Amino acid sequence: MPKKRRNNGRNKMHKGHSDPVHCENCKRLVPKDKAVKRFLIKNMVDQSSKRDIEEASVYPKDEYSMPRLFIKNQYCVSCGIHARIVRVRSNENRRIRYISNFREGTEEASHGLYKRANQRSKKPNEK
Ligand SMILES: [Zn+2]
Repeated sequence: MPKKRRNNGRNKMHKGHSDPVHCENCKRLVPKDKAVKRFLIKNMVDQSSKRDIEEASVYPKDEYSMPRLFIKNQYCVSCGIHARIVRVRSNENRRIRYISNFREGTEEASHGLYKRANQRSKKPNEK
């Protein structure tokens, strides 16, 4: 029978078994190497509140930066598809692998075989 994906949608690497993690959304147990993982960095307060706090602060703006939230989200495949974090891709596009930001600009990234994860699609009215 033909295979949909060479790695069966996982990154098991001859491990035999990988630890299950809970999906962030529905709490389903999903193997860690199969989970859709996204690392999120966001500000604790919104932009306008941040400005107000910075103006009221006694510390100089360039010496003190507001704390940020660093969250690692892990989703099951169903939730990843439902929340449009990952999408169904055509047979050829499935070959494109995702890389993280730190490998961008390397020789591998320039071949077009890889695509950056977490990339937001630009709207046409944005520059
Ligand atoms: Zn889920």
